[in-house]
Amino acid sequence: MLQHPDATLYEGKAKILFSTSDPKILVQEFKDDLTAFNAQKKGSFFGKGAINCQISSIIFQHLANLGVPVHYRSLDSPRRMVIDRLDMVPIEVVVRNRVAGSLTRRLGIPEGESLPFPVIEWYYKRDDLGDPMVNRDHIRILKLASDAVLDEIRILGLRVNEILLQYFRERSISLVDIKLEFGWNSSGFLVLGDEVDGDTSRLWDLETGEKLDKDRFRMDLGSVKEGYEKIYERVAGHAIES
Ligand code: C5P
Repeated sequence: MLQHPDATLYEGKAKILFSTSDPKILVQEFKDDLTAFNAQKKGSFFGKGAINCQISSIIFQHLANLGVPVHYRSLDSPRRMVIDRLDMVPIEVVVRNRVAGSLTRRLGIPEGESLPFPVIEWYYKRDDLGDPMVNRDHIRILKLASDAVLDEIRILGLRVNEILLQYFRERSISLVDIKLEFGWNSSGFLVLGDEVDGDTSRLWDLETGEKLDKDRFRMDLGSVKEGYEKIYERVAGHAIES
């Protein structure tokens, strides 16, 4: 049975979570807002929520078809998806295939350079601290996740990255890096949650290197909406209906 939004449970920078009549099921609404640098930079464009919701929906279905546990259930409207309620691990997992963003600044390696293997980084989900990068010892001290759970997240994160590297390559896109979030479902299984789109990954045209993702907004490159529409077109196989 299709679930309908009830009360607002949580409103974040890019999404709103609604409860439904079933405590195990939520509705996730994608907002038109864009934020960067821990919300110090703000923007929006009409239709952004719907584009990202539909990109995430297609990608979650692809991952699920290949056996990755995901919170996605169905699309409720162009910018709302029905999801399993998860108890989120308060860690953001970044998997990098090429150097960009904060890694360029941290290590001084030129942007775009390919990494010899996927590099994993952990970030502590704490807006008030600016989501700092943490290592395994920090995670132990903060009791964010056990070593066994981190190992499981690492394996799942690498699997998602491997699947999506190929998925995007087939659509002439280079998956430069991606941020993933995991949580526990009501049966006690670790599941991929949140979203997978141009807000949470770097996607460059494979041939030209053109940035299609949120870096257009972060770096004031212009044509932000057009970038997101290009991602949608390559993922969906047709232009977005407006
Ligand atoms: O900024 P940085 O290079 O560390 O970002 C790595 C990846 O994680 C990028 O794809 C970025 O979009 C994503 N990210 C995110 N949410 C954050 C920080 C980074 O989705 N809070």
